Amino acid sequence: MKRTFGVIGLAVMGENLALNVESRGFPIAVYNRTYEKTEEFMNTRGKGKDIVGPRTLEEFVQALERPRKILVMVKAGGPVDAVIQQLKPLLDEGDMIIDGGNSLYDDTERRTKELEPTGLGFVGMGVSGGEEGALHGPSLMPGGTEFAYRDLEPILKAIAAQVDDGPCVTYIGPGGAGHYVKMVHNGIEYGDMQLIAEAYDILRYGLGLSNEQLHQIFAEWNTTDELNSYLIEITADIFKQKDPGTNEYLVDLILDSAGQKGTGRWTVLSSLELGVPIPTIYAAVNARVMSAYKAERVAASKELNGRPIRYDGDTAGFVNKVRDALYCSKMCSYAQGMALIAKASAEFKYNINLPETARIWKGGCIIRAGFLDKIKKAYLENPNLPNLLLAPEFKQSILDRQEAWRDVLILANKIGIGVPAFSASLDYFDSYRRSRLPQNLTQAQRDYFGAHTYERIDKPLGEFFHTEWAGVS
Ligand code: NAP
Repeated sequence: MKRTFGVIGLAVMGENLALNVESRGFPIAVYNRTYEKTEEFMNTRGKGKDIVGPRTLEEFVQALERPRKILVMVKAGGPVDAVIQQLKPLLDEGDMIIDGGNSLYDDTERRTKELEPTGLGFVGMGVSGGEEGALHGPSLMPGGTEFAYRDLEPILKAIAAQVDDGPCVTYIGPGGAGHYVKMVHNGIEYGDMQLIAEAYDILRYGLGLSNEQLHQIFAEWNTTDELNSYLIEITADIFKQKDPGTNEYLVDLILDSAGQKGTGRWTVLSSLELGVPIPTIYAAVNARVMSAYKAERVAASKELNGRPIRYDGDTAGFVNKVRDALYCSKMCSYAQGMALIAKASAEFKYNINLPETARIWKGGCIIRAGFLDKIKKAYLENPNLPNLLLAPEFKQSILDRQEAWRDVLILANKIGIGVPAFSASLDYFDSYRRSRLPQNLTQAQRDYFGAHTYERIDKPLGEFFHTEWAGVS
């Protein structure tokens, strides 16, 4: 019997997605470059399942029913190209390759352009939710060849996370649209994680709260309409975990140096190319970069000291202010991410449906949160919303909380705790709401030293002026 679906790449993500697809009643074939891994999988997790694991790629392709549907879950970059080149001569018109790795959208764009004219379908699909999501129901962001998506839709809908308004999958758009949205999703994830880290820093080291208190605060925040989310939930759990060896709280023993694989950096690079300000996400990426300078920071802490890192006012009231600051900053971060997707959609003709994008993030993925439903509704009510902060609900929420938000930043500045993403968010809000920024002076300087010209507020836009400036007296 021919198999409905094939998976190439049996590392953690490929294995779990393969098991997820099989569990929904689709017979599958799997293939891995190193055959020992296929054998091991077939003898362990794949045992007794409706799965075959051929040794060669040719046998794997022959095992699949037409049109063939092949999910590639290998290391992003060169390995994806290598697998595509090996597959191409073995496939027939109408067959489709799905790249479910974290590929750069530019690469997906290139691969789609290469494969579509040959009659093959290529779907670049963002997969979020880590290994657990892959096994039980991820959030899926497929883009690329539309006929291929339509063929794949029943399978993708069956394996995706299910939420109140449907499975967490939708066709994102042509070319690299799916991987673009996954990239920004990851950028938003960086923002969320950094904002939570800053709230933690203020509560733990500014207010001097214990891990047990932090556990309770985050668990309580997770019950609120504003902050209820997977990341807040796991943060609450983390504060409870003890290290079995030392019986100390594990979080206190973990080195404060964060890694990254590149999707946050790609988001920032794309935002600079497209001219969309995303300062919160940029701050989050930078915060990880700064964290890696551990030895230098330890040395500097002995030289550049002098601020008391402790608050001695009303703790309970201040905890609520931190909660409000976190929520306001989060609204700004999502406003930036969604604005970037909207701009990319227009620029690259992706035609991305923003309410659907928010909807498919409601389940399965790392940034899943009750809050995404509000975003979906905001874009449904006004598809031309220029910025999420202008949606009635978000506008009111941020205006109601801005004093608390500012108080938290004042305190952090005063006691010397860096809060780069909180600050970047407030700066974003304060700049976006100003009808006049000081860039009139920037333009004057540019015209002074470089004759770059400027426009005037008392003349029609598009008319440019140059002045022979008076010179230094
Ligand atoms: P991975 O460690 O990124 O990749 C390992 C797999 O790639 C192995 O099956 C390996 O085969 C194969 N591979 C490497 N180079 C190859 C080549 N030149 N030709 C053929 N196969 C090659 O695996 P992963 O963590 O499961 O991730 C897979 C993809 O999903 C990545 O793009 C990753 O970024 C993305 N992703 C991961 C997560 C996560 O939580 N881990 C979440 C979302 C997305 P061999 O066994 O032969 O070495």
